Order: sequence, then structure tokens, then C-alpha cells
Amino acid sequence: MLLNRKQERVRGAAPLQPNPLASTGGEGWGEGASAREPLAIYIHWPFCRSKCPYCDFNSHVREGVDAVRWTRALVADLERQAQLAPDREVSSIFFGGGTPSLMPSHTVAALVARVGALWPVASDLEVTLEANPNSAEAERFAGFAEAGINRLSLGIQALDPEALRFLGRGHDRDEAIAAIRLARATFARYSFDLIYARPGQSVAAWEAELDEALSLAGEHLSLYQLTIEPGTAFDKRAARGEVLAADEETGAALFEATQIRLAAAGLPAYEISNHARPGAECRHNLAYWRYEDYLGIGPGAHGRVTRGGGKIATRQRRAPEAWLAAIEESGTAIDEETPIAPDEAVGEMLMMGLRLIEGVARQRLETLAGRDVEQMFPGVLPRLVDGGFVTLDDDRLAATAAGRQRLNAVLGALLAV
Ligand code: SF4
Repeated sequence: MLLNRKQERVRGAAPLQPNPLASTGGEGWGEGASAREPLAIYIHWPFCRSKCPYCDFNSHVREGVDAVRWTRALVADLERQAQLAPDREVSSIFFGGGTPSLMPSHTVAALVARVGALWPVASDLEVTLEANPNSAEAERFAGFAEAGINRLSLGIQALDPEALRFLGRGHDRDEAIAAIRLARATFARYSFDLIYARPGQSVAAWEAELDEALSLAGEHLSLYQLTIEPGTAFDKRAARGEVLAADEETGAALFEATQIRLAAAGLPAYEISNHARPGAECRHNLAYWRYEDYLGIGPGAHGRVTRGGGKIATRQRRAPEAWLAAIEESGTAIDEETPIAPDEAVGEMLMMGLRLIEGVARQRLETLAGRDVEQMFPGVLPRLVDGGFVTLDDDRLAATAAGRQRLNAVLGALLAV
């Protein structure tokens, strides 16, 4: 599969860079989306206990973190960005990172409460926090539940002890299983992540690991294919000739086995790497994939907000200390607020939406582009349909299973038009 890890995991990350040709500015975009349209809020905690060798996220190891300053700054960022998207109803909050389970629970509580003071919230508000098993003390989980977290997403990554060591994880198998059990006992909803396509991993070994995962799972699992990302420790080792991930053919066989196993267990894929019982999907991540509006709070976080009939992209300063200093000095660390040109928005909607089994709503795509889907992709669309890579009907444009396995190539063909 050609997708990279950054595309696979969505944490308030922008699928495309803002259009460098578009003008920048913070005023004059007119009215935002109509009142009470849903809004998702992503909050980034950029600190981890150690850096995993495959990870290219905006995560950093620091000796001490001043919780008071960080709480104040994140709340200030939230208040400032509320001006970008007033009159909405917040549908989800997602604490990602980094390792947000290292946040003090009172920081989480302060942010959840501030969201509730700034916007009306949906009656079924989803509030997710990512956690690592080695920060899974019972008191911390209870504190997060009390702070308003109702969905926990655990970074388990492997149930095989050797694989955990290979991935440089700071927890062992027993801690992983204990954390899953504690999550199940504490939160209304929980999910955990595993990484597959590790070097030397056989389909049979992965199926056995999946079976154990299914015995521990609730209604949602995220299963990511290992890729070597530029700038990571794995990247440096790979450059020296080490084989650190499965080859493409094995990766495809593991992906296929994953789809079959999970569907048979009642957790079919709803996105390339995400599986859930119908109705138990992560609503926050669905907002990204459906190209709905979201605010990105914290260092390096991106946002997409509808203003004046189009969307603007926001991008924050990435380094934690620079972000904190900017917020404390001027109340904002947003470096860019860029209107997204319609063609670029179409590209973003496709890049996100074709990851979903449901695909992209045809009407939304055509409204955004101002023309029919057939006119958007003359020539290439019939070829992709005939080749069995996409389907198009009156309601939706979707990638088939074969198309999702080659999504970068499908997108390349569509977006080259
Ligand atoms: S714990 Fe997660 S965010 Fe932190 S370094 Fe590891 S993979 Fe990256």
C-alpha cells in the first residue's frame, strides 16, 4: 500500500499544504458556516516520555513541563480561535499528541469546561483522549473520566513482546493488557491501535495477534501499516540497509487478512485503517474524513474552518517552546490563515473522503467544485471505474477495496486532471 503513516493517522493534520498562491489575511471573509453547524476541536499535547523510532508526529521529550503555563496557554488558544468559528455546535473534542495521557487531569477538565462555556455542545458530545499504557494508572484514568473524557484511544501498537521492543515502546505486554482492561472498566467507549507489517511478520502470526486483540476489543480498533517516515530513527537505520518493514507484497497480504478477520468479527473497516461496529465509528476523525470544520489547538495543530462560502486553513507554530512564547506574548501562535482555493478544497475533500468506505458525497463535491463529477475528471474517471478502482452513483464517489489499497495512485490520477 502506498499510503504513508501521516496520511493514515489523522490528528488535526492537514492533508495538503495551504495554497501558497492564495492571499493570506484574517479579515473580510464574511459570514461563517450557518448557525449550529457541527465543529470538531482537536487539542495537541506535544510531550512524550520517549520518542518512538517510527514516529514523525510533533512529539518531544522534555524534562519538566510547566502545567500551569500550558493550561493557561491552551485555554487562551481555544478562546482566541473561538472567534474563528462562533455559532457552532461542538460535536467532538479530541486530545491527541504526543501523549495527552501525561496531561494533568485538571488541564483536561479546564479545556473541556471552556469548550462548554464557549459553544453549545451536542447532547452526544464525543470527548476522546489518546493514552499510552505506561501512563495507565487507575487514578489517572478515573481523573480523566471525571474531567469529561468519554472515549479512550490506547496506543498499544503490539501484543507481541518482541514487537513491542522493536517498536521502542515504553510498555510491555502485561501493561498493555492491563491498560485495555482498565479502559474498558472506566470509559463508555474505548479503542486501541496496533501496528502491523513489521519485518518478518507472517500472515498467520498477525492473524493470531488480531484474534487476541479482538478478544480484548470493544467496538473500535485502529490497525496501521508500518511505514518508514523521513527523519525518524527508523529512516536513518533503513538508510544504512536495515529492513524495518514488510515488503509491499506481504503488506498487501496482511492488509487483506486484516479486512477479512475484522469483518468476520463484526468490526468492518469504515476507513482504510479503522474498524468499528456500525455506529461506533470515531466521530471526531469522521469529521476530518468528511471534510467538515475543525479547530486545531496547540503546537503544530492545523484547522479547517468555513468562512465566506469557502474554507480557511490555519496552521500553528510547531515547536512547543516557540508556540508557548507566541501565545504568552500575543495571544496566538497561528502562523497562517489561508483561504483554500476551490480546486484545492476539492483535492482535500477527495484525499480525505476516499479513505472512507462510504466515499465522498457527490452533492457536496459538486457544490464545492461548481460542476458535475464527470466534468471534473474527464477521461480518467471512466478508466478508474472500468478498472475497478472507484465507483460512482447518484449519491457517492467511492474507492473500491482495490482502489483503497492504491489510494495514492488513484488520487494522483484524479488530481492530475
Ligand atoms: S508515544 Fe506516540 S506520539 Fe509519542 S513518540 Fe511514540 S508514537 Fe510518537
